[in-house]
Amino acid sequence: SVELRDIHVSFGTLEVLRGVDLKVPSGKTTCVIGPSGSGKSTLLRCVNRLQEPDSGDLLLDGESVIKADPDALRQRVGMVFQHFNLFGHRSVLDNIVLPLRSVKKLGKEEAAEIARARLAEVGLADKAPYRPSALSGGQQQRVAIARALAMDPEVMLFDEATSALDPELVKGVLNLMAGLAERGLTLIVVTHEMGFARSVADEVAFMDAGKIVEQGPPARLFDEPQSPRLQRFLSQVL
Ligand code: ATP
Ligand code: MG
Repeated sequence: SVELRDIHVSFGTLEVLRGVDLKVPSGKTTCVIGPSGSGKSTLLRCVNRLQEPDSGDLLLDGESVIKADPDALRQRVGMVFQHFNLFGHRSVLDNIVLPLRSVKKLGKEEAAEIARARLAEVGLADKAPYRPSALSGGQQQRVAIARALAMDPEVMLFDEATSALDPELVKGVLNLMAGLAERGLTLIVVTHEMGFARSVADEVAFMDAGKIVEQGPPARLFDEPQSPRLQRFLSQVL
């Protein structure tokens, strides 16, 4: 499981997370939805400590990792961003091999073997020698996912992984993410794709103004929203 307890984050006088509690059991998927600026990315970044909270606790499998080595934590918690963040001047294969070598300290051959296997898994075995710029946005995002998977994480974080993609490329990436959920990875997915949230998530958390206002199974959140803020949000996005 991955768990945030009473997380607070401020930037100057702006309190961006105002006491966030979230627990995702192992093998489950939670989608985080909410208006722009509500703190979704900041929450996600707290889970692999790209953002260090001002206070609160972070637990993996019941054990606090808020003071653990962040690099060790990031091997257990992978993240995929809206804008892929691939190394543009390296081949697709190297994009996966290099972190395996530097972070996992793997040898060249072993790293290449894992990288090829992960690329094949996302359907891109034939793209290994190309620069990322030779790939479509959807393919680049699948490389980014393969790179995160290569670290063999327990938890994967997705921050609007399909928001930068052309509409016709969205589905392939969402299907890949749904496959990870099915395979039993623990996922936290920030998304505007309400169809994905409804069909894939075990739970949906609605954030507004730095707090999780409402959380539950997708059918309940989408069909019987309790708070006026969620009702208003859904009327705007559905
Ligand atoms: P969006 O849907 O637009 O991606 P979000 O829900 O992900 O929004 P965050 O990116 O978490 O929202 O930002 C929450 C608030 O914190 C915003 O008001 C944002 O401007 C502010 N913020 C985020 N990061 C920083 C930072 N490094 N310094 C100052 N303010 C920040
Ligand atoms: Mg965001």
